[in-house]
Formats: sequence, structure tokens, C-alpha cells
Amino acid sequence: MAEKWLVGVDLGGTTVKIAFVTSDGELIHKWEIDTNNSEDGKYIVPDIAKSIERKLEEWGQTKDKLIGIGMGAPGPVNTETGVIYQTVNLPWKNYPLKERLESETSLPVVVDNDANIAAIGEMWKGAGNGAKNLVCVTLGTGVGGGIIANGQIIRGTNGAGGEIGHITSVPEGGAPCNCGKTGCLETIASATGIVRIAKEKLAKDEKKSVLHLRTVTAKDVFDAARENDELALEIVDYVTFHLGLALANVANALNPEKIVIGGGVSKAGDILVERVRRYFDRFAFPRVAEGATIAIATLGNDAGVIGGAWLAKTAFLQ
Ligand SMILES: [Zn+2]
Repeated sequence: MAEKWLVGVDLGGTTVKIAFVTSDGELIHKWEIDTNNSEDGKYIVPDIAKSIERKLEEWGQTKDKLIGIGMGAPGPVNTETGVIYQTVNLPWKNYPLKERLESETSLPVVVDNDANIAAIGEMWKGAGNGAKNLVCVTLGTGVGGGIIANGQIIRGTNGAGGEIGHITSVPEGGAPCNCGKTGCLETIASATGIVRIAKEKLAKDEKKSVLHLRTVTAKDVFDAARENDELALEIVDYVTFHLGLALANVANALNPEKIVIGGGVSKAGDILVERVRRYFDRFAFPRVAEGATIAIATLGNDAGVIGGAWLAKTAFLQ
């Protein structure tokens, strides 16, 4: 029998990433479509179904080739029912994603949170390298988190497990967060948070800095820090202090083997890892610090679709 494929789907607010993946986690083909948010998002699922069918045709295959679909969605998901509760990035509320996609594709579907499937992807094929105890943190527009303990994703009692971005870093007087709290890690270690901190610092700091001359991005801050710009170094120090502290506290509870940092900000690379490591070692229980490696994610944008494929494999291929 010819080998069957898994389908990984990573739904985001602006694009849907889709891939055909082998049962060993090798990408056969990946592509993207736009997320059509009009009319309460009623086109999203039919668009995905049609796109998968069209790709199958292009590859001269039929639906028999596919085992099932594993999908990540941005927001808390009930993994039993496949209902997505509510999300800031999509117009859905209590949307029966699994049921709708199954009826549109006639394929079995399993749904999870997008940060969770990215963590699974990194565990399976990326920087996690098969680690059974893994913490993933994604530093993008927000800060996402996925935790795998004993090979199991931690979903929690109502789908909000692993929300590392909403660990409180500044208990009093912190910046407002999208979640409704203040002082969350997300307000500091996301790309948005880094820019906010830079702007605040630039407004009151007279120190000479190349950052005064530009519209600042998170990348600018790390680039300038690498050139030993004093002000940029102070910002990086503040950000990595809070990231190291939060990750150490998470690690103290979980004793992970790997901590994987992904998302756009992680492109900063060594300077980020080295400084996070410094604070991590200061705040982690010594035995926890000894056991943990901190690494940059290696799958980039493919982590979600590969993690989705793993979900489908685990659910439908036994
Ligand atoms: Zn928050």
C-alpha cells in the first residue's frame, strides 16, 4: 500500500498554513491561503476544504490518500468537542470547528490551540528533538506558550494550559495586556512589548543611542545591542531578565529537558539565548537549571503544520 499523508492546518488571523506531511513528519508540500474573515468567518472552513481538494488534484491524488486533518486555531479550544471558544484574531465565538471541517472534507479532524501544535511540532521534528518534557515560548506580536510534560501537551481544565505569556511579570503598575490584566510577560517580551519599552526609554533617556534616529522595531533593539549600544543593551537586559525569570519559574514546576524559544523575536538568536540563560540560571532551582537546555526554535513557520500532522497521526493512525 502506498504511504498515506497527514494534513496539518495552522489557522491564523491573516493566513491559513496547510501541509501534506508523511507519517514520519516529512513535509510533502506546504502552502498558504488567506483567512477570509468576512461574514463572521463563514468562508474559512469551506476555503480550507476546497484548497485541500485542489491540491490533491494537482498531485494526482484522491481523498483516500489522506489519513486525517490536525488543526491549530488561535484561542482556547475544547479538544474533546473541537469547539473554539473565542479568539481576538477571528470573528468566531463558540464555533464547532471540528464538526464543520469534518462535514466539509469528509475526513476526521482533530483541533488544538495553535501554540500547542507549534510546541508539538518542535518536539517531533524541531529543536525539541524528541524531548518528552518541553516548554515552548513564542515571541511574536504576543507571547504564546506550549508545555509538554511526559510527552503529553498540558491543556489544563478548560483549554488555557501553557499560557506562559500571561504570567504576571510586573505585579503593580504594569502595562495593560490584551487579556485584560496588566503586567503580563506578553507586555514585555513580545515584539510589541519590546517596542513599547524602547519608546518609553527613548522618551526619558538622554543617552546617545542609534535608536533615537529610527522608528524602532524589536529587531532594531537587538541589532543595536549587538553593536553595544548602551540604551539598547538596557532594554535587552530588562526583557531577558523577565523572560528568564518567568521561564525559570515555569521550569521550577516542570523540570523540562528543553526550553524552545520561537517567533519573530527569536531571530535575535544567540544574544537572546545567552542573556535569557543568564537570568534563567539565577532564578531556576539548581538541579532544574542543570537539566534544561535553552534553544531557538528550528521549524519557524512550519512548526504548526507539522504539529498538526502529529496530532492527526496520534488520533487516527494507530
Ligand atoms: Zn495577559
